[in-house]
Amino acid sequence: MQGERRISEVFAKYTFPFEYLFVENVGLNSNGKFQMDAIFLTPFFLVILESKNISGKLFFKQNPALLERETNDGKIDVFESPEIQLSRNIYLLEEWLGDQALTIPIHGVIVLSNPKVRVIEPPKKHSAILPQTIPVYLRNLPRENVYFNSNEMQKFSEKIKVDQQTYIPFPMCARWGIKPEDLKSGVRCENCNFHGMVKRKSGWTCARCGHFDKFAHEKAIRDWFMLISDTITNKQCRTFLHLESNYIAHRILHSMNLTKIGTSRNTKYKWIW
Ligand SMILES: [Zn+2]
Repeated sequence: MQGERRISEVFAKYTFPFEYLFVENVGLNSNGKFQMDAIFLTPFFLVILESKNISGKLFFKQNPALLERETNDGKIDVFESPEIQLSRNIYLLEEWLGDQALTIPIHGVIVLSNPKVRVIEPPKKHSAILPQTIPVYLRNLPRENVYFNSNEMQKFSEKIKVDQQTYIPFPMCARWGIKPEDLKSGVRCENCNFHGMVKRKSGWTCARCGHFDKFAHEKAIRDWFMLISDTITNKQCRTFLHLESNYIAHRILHSMNLTKIGTSRNTKYKWIW
């Protein structure tokens, strides 16, 4: 993804006056699989960097936590809160470190990699920064206590490499010999497990239990990438999500920070792990 490339550009240009390790696209397994755009480890702290390549005016809403984006023409799009994503990843990484008998303070930061972004309502729990301010942000984090000595830095670096290799490459259907057509399509209800939530104006309603979920489509799209293929077309999206509208499928795919390949009718959207 373009945003992630900008993070690595910063790290390619900049070095820090202390021991550190920078790893991109880290996929790990602890109490659940989790994926981080980049991590930065020092003897004093660890930082998870979550990159968001979103343009426009951003409002990091609380209670419930979501990210709202207002485009130039006044359209509002709603995304899963990066703060929630970060908190979840921090928790899972803490668990993963715990299994290695390692402890270190973990910080999370949202990197806004699209130059056409303006933050109107900043996040509360984690900082949101621009790529060019990553070095300053990292240098200003407290370095009073040493948590990892050189051996532990080494141990972490090796363990990350090993776990990355055993991390199941997606899609799983090809790996396990499952036929995609044998999978249930339709947006799944988290409340009752029914496949076939119905699209309403501002979210999805379960046809069986009435449960409402604003982001049910995001989980379904992620399932697609995990299970079936690393690309999706507008037509595949409509079939998988049981949508009729070309336009709604288009909006959903555009809201998910995917990489666009090809043009007009041949457009595919790619998920990069
Ligand atoms: Zn339901």
